[in-house]
Amino acid sequence: MKRAILLDDISDGRLYKSGNTVNLDADGCSGCSYCCREMTDTIILDPWDIYMLSLGVGNTGNDISLAPLLAKGFVSLSVFEGLTLPRLSAKTGADFSSCVFLDETGRCRVHAYRPGFCRLFPLGRIYEDEGFHYFLQSRECRKEERKGVRIDKWLGIDNLEKYEDFILKWHEIQENIKEYLKGCDDENAGKINMMLLKLFYLAPYDAGRDFYLQFEERRKRLLND
Ligand code: SF4
Ligand code: SF4
Repeated sequence: MKRAILLDDISDGRLYKSGNTVNLDADGCSGCSYCCREMTDTIILDPWDIYMLSLGVGNTGNDISLAPLLAKGFVSLSVFEGLTLPRLSAKTGADFSSCVFLDETGRCRVHAYRPGFCRLFPLGRIYEDEGFHYFLQSRECRKEERKGVRIDKWLGIDNLEKYEDFILKWHEIQENIKEYLKGCDDENAGKINMMLLKLFYLAPYDAGRDFYLQFEERRKRLLND
């Protein structure tokens, strides 16, 4: 019932897989950068996003990690449903509501490396039955005329099958940790959050190795500890 209300309220009521075609393409967003101006502080970053953004800003070696992105102010930490997670930073000063990566012409400076959330919009994900579907957030995009495009093309992610598997596993990790945190006092909750940050965000990734393999190694380490 809750799911039906949610979907009826914010979507066209349909669920999609990556091979489906949905009206998403607002002519390359020409003349509009609403998403990059108004939604920045809601864009939570997963480990793949941190890996990609690190490459996008030219980091190499031990700098494929959250720490240099934090140090340069590209991302900041926030608490979301009990979890301490990175999110995209907004610019400071008069333009404080714009993403740090939005340029003067309204384009993304790290387009090829942009986070998964930016790629998805105006799609969302709904998780159920040990999997997930995409849904269209039908009222979110400011342009009403949108052309049909296949979701896999829209996302533009190499190895989408591996990426979707990662998304599902990362979601499971977060849900399990959130559940675990309910029984923790503040001190232990802080330790768990720090462990999660260190394992999946702060320990540098190797740009020369497959991201998904490295994520899997870390996931197994978490499960075995
Ligand atoms: S990373 Fe790029 S696409 Fe995402 S909000 Fe920032 S400017 Fe927009
Ligand atoms: S509101 Fe629509 S057209 Fe505007 S930036 Fe977002 S997706 Fe593109």
